Amino acid sequence: MSEQLFISEIFKSVQGEGSKIGTPSVFLRLGICNLQCVWCDTPYTWKKGLTDYKARGFDWVLRKIASLTRGSGVGNIVVTGGEPLLQQAQLAELLSFKLFDDMEIEFETNGSMPLLPAMKSFIKGRRVTFTISPKLADSGNKPYKVHLYPNSVLKFVYVSKKSEKLIDDFIKNSGVDTLRTKVYIMPEGTSVEAMSQKYKDLLKYCEKRGYHFTPRLQIYLFGNTRAT
Ligand code: SF4
Repeated sequence: MSEQLFISEIFKSVQGEGSKIGTPSVFLRLGICNLQCVWCDTPYTWKKGLTDYKARGFDWVLRKIASLTRGSGVGNIVVTGGEPLLQQAQLAELLSFKLFDDMEIEFETNGSMPLLPAMKSFIKGRRVTFTISPKLADSGNKPYKVHLYPNSVLKFVYVSKKSEKLIDDFIKNSGVDTLRTKVYIMPEGTSVEAMSQKYKDLLKYCEKRGYHFTPRLQIYLFGNTRAT
C-alpha cells in the first residue's frame, strides 16, 4: 500500500452544505474525479489544464491536519474532492491514525464507487457519514450506478425546474426510503444571485416532497473562492 494520497487542498472552514451545515471542519480535498459535471465548482481537482493537486505522503497530511486542529475545537473532517472514494483504500489507512480517533468524518461523494473491504471495515464503529450527491442528466454525465452506503444522506443539485423530475425518477428507481434517508436539495450556482433565482421553485419542491433545503453557505460567507 502506498502511503500517499493525491491532495488538492487542506483547510479549515465551516461546512456550508448539507446535514452538517455550520459545523467548523477541516476539509481534506482530494484530487481526481471520474465524472465531468458541466457546472463543477472544483474543476481544479480534475479538469485538464486546470488541475492543481499533488501526491502527498501521509506524514505531510497528518502534520497539516494536526496543525489545523491542534488547540481548536474542530472535531469534524470533511473528506471531499474530486471523488474521494477513488482513493478509499489509502483513506481508510490514513483515517485510522490516532489523530482521527475522536473525530467525526463526513465523506462527500458522487456515489459511483462501491465500498472496498478496507473502507467497510474502517467505518465499523466510527462516527462516519456519507453525503452522496448523485449526478443526474442535468450534470452532463452519462447515467451511472449510484451506490448507497451505510449512514448516508442524499444531496441533489437543483439546476432548474427540470431537476425535479430527474430527482423524482432517481428516488423512485433507487427504492430509497426518504423517511429514513434524509434528502437535501441544493441550488446550483457560484454566486448569491445565481442561487437566489432558484430558491422560489426549489423551496416549493422541498415542501411538496418533504426534502430539506440546503444553501451553499460558503458562497454567502466567502464568495466563489478556493479553500472555503
Ligand atoms: S462529481 Fe463533483 S468533483 Fe466530480 S465533476 Fe462532478 S461536481 Fe466536480
